[in-house]
Amino acid sequence: MGIRRAIFSIILSTFLFGFRASTNPSTNPLTLRGEVRLNPHTAAAYINGLTILAKINKQIVEKTATDSNGRFSLTLKDYQGERLDIFCCGIGIDTLLLYSASRLDKTTQDLAILIPIEPKRNMFGKPYCPICHKTDKVYPVVYGLGQLVELKVKNGDSTYTNIVHHKFYRGTCMDMSARYYCARDRVSF
Ligand SMILES: [Zn+2]
Repeated sequence: MGIRRAIFSIILSTFLFGFRASTNPSTNPLTLRGEVRLNPHTAAAYINGLTILAKINKQIVEKTATDSNGRFSLTLKDYQGERLDIFCCGIGIDTLLLYSASRLDKTTQDLAILIPIEPKRNMFGKPYCPICHKTDKVYPVVYGLGQLVELKVKNGDSTYTNIVHHKFYRGTCMDMSARYYCARDRVSF
């Protein structure tokens, strides 16, 4: 009985180990193939020559540029299932969050992305942040030189905030492309 149990546990652990090894995403590099298009709701000017950044743990791990058709390809050799954030930036374009996902297990992901993205919204029309999937810290971005700042005093420390009356004041006269800002994750989209 003891031997049978021992054999069974060896078989079971071999099976589990083999299963884990074969599904571990770190065994395969992750390739992202993307195509960006302009969101018809905004005035962002172009799709070619945009810098595309891949970040893991807020660190840039890979970067590339879009071609004249707005296509790009990125390969992450050491992807192990962490949260992956894709940003773009360019002349007159904010650093925009385009995509955020965790535990991607396919070796190739095809992404069709609008710049800026069209976020999912709750029943009141408030947009969800693509990272925290919440609406409570997401503010519309306001452009213009007449920037409002508000003095906040918390625990004796005073700081200025760009978020006033539930709007994020970007502080530039250029009308750029971000429409929303999540104060929790400090990303524009
Ligand atoms: Zn967020």
